[in-house]
Amino acid sequence: MSERQWTETLYTGYGQSFSVDSVLFEHKTDHQHLMIFENQVFGRVMALDGVVQTTERDEFIYHEMLTHVPIIAHGAVKRVLIIGGGDGGILREVCRHASIEHITQVEIDQSVIDMAIKYLPSHSAGAYNDIRANIVISDGFDFVQTTDQTFDVIISDSTDPHGPGEVLFTKDFYAGCQRCLNPGGILVTQNGVAFMQTDEVRNTAQRFSRLFKDSHFYSAAVPTYVGGIMAFAWASDTPAHRQLDVATVRQRWQAAGIKSRYYTPDIHVASFALPEYLMQAISGTIHS
Ligand code: SAM
Repeated sequence: MSERQWTETLYTGYGQSFSVDSVLFEHKTDHQHLMIFENQVFGRVMALDGVVQTTERDEFIYHEMLTHVPIIAHGAVKRVLIIGGGDGGILREVCRHASIEHITQVEIDQSVIDMAIKYLPSHSAGAYNDIRANIVISDGFDFVQTTDQTFDVIISDSTDPHGPGEVLFTKDFYAGCQRCLNPGGILVTQNGVAFMQTDEVRNTAQRFSRLFKDSHFYSAAVPTYVGGIMAFAWASDTPAHRQLDVATVRQRWQAAGIKSRYYTPDIHVASFALPEYLMQAISGTIHS
C-alpha cells in the first residue's frame, strides 16, 4: 500500500484519487504546476495544476478519437494544426497518417514537452523528430490570430478552461481558428466531461453556432477524465463531413492503414450520437 495519495482538485466536493508509488517530476513551470507520478493502476500520470492530463494506460482512447475522427472525416488532409498537446499523444497519432504533409504544434509550455519526452516517452513515440512536425512555443490564442498559415484540420488539445487554457475556450480563439482553416476544414477541441462540465458544452455550442455552418459534439469514455463521457467539440462549414456513412469511413480507414486500439469506423459514426441531456444543453443555446 502506497503511503501517499494524490486527489484531483478539478471539482469541488468530488474527485478521483490515485496512490502515488513514486513522484518522477514536480515543478512549478513558468505557466503551471507540473507533476508526473507513478500509479499502480494507470502507470505514469501527468497532472497540471492539480488536474489529470494524461496517463500511460488510457491515453490511447483520447488521442485516437481527437485525431482520427476529424482526419478521416475530412478525407484529404495535408496540413494539421495542434494547439497545446504538450504530452505528444496527438502529434504521435497525426504522424501515423502518411498522407499528411505538414503539422504545426503550438504549445505554451516547453517544460511539458521536455518532461513528457523524458517520463512519458510512449506518448510521443519519436513524433517530435518527425520532419513534418514544426513545434512553436507560444500561446495558441495569439498564434491563430496572427499566423499566415492555413490548415485542413485544427485540433485543440488544451487544459481545462482555467489558467493558461482559459483563452482556448473563447469566441475569439474559435474565430481565430476559423480564419486559419482552409475551405472544408474541421476544428475539434477537447471540451471536458459532458456530465460534470455541461456549461462548457453549452458555451462552446453557442460560440460555434455563431461562427460555423455546422457544429456538434462527439464523445468517448476515458477512465481518468472522470465523471462520464468526454465531449469533443466539432465545427466546420462543411456539414457533410459528419454525415459520412460507415462504409465510406471504413474505406478511408483501411486506406490509411493504421492500427488502432480504440478507434474503429463504427465507433467513429456512433460517437456523434449524444444523450438527451446533452442534446438539450446544446439546442437550448442555438440562436439564443
Ligand atoms: N488531454 C489533456 C486533457 O484533456 O486534459 C490535455 C493534455 S495537454 C498536456 C494540454 C496542454 O495544453 C498543456 O501542455 C498546456 O501547456 C497546453 N496549453 C494550455 N494553455 C495553452 C495555450 N494558451 N496555448 C498553447 N498551449 C496551451
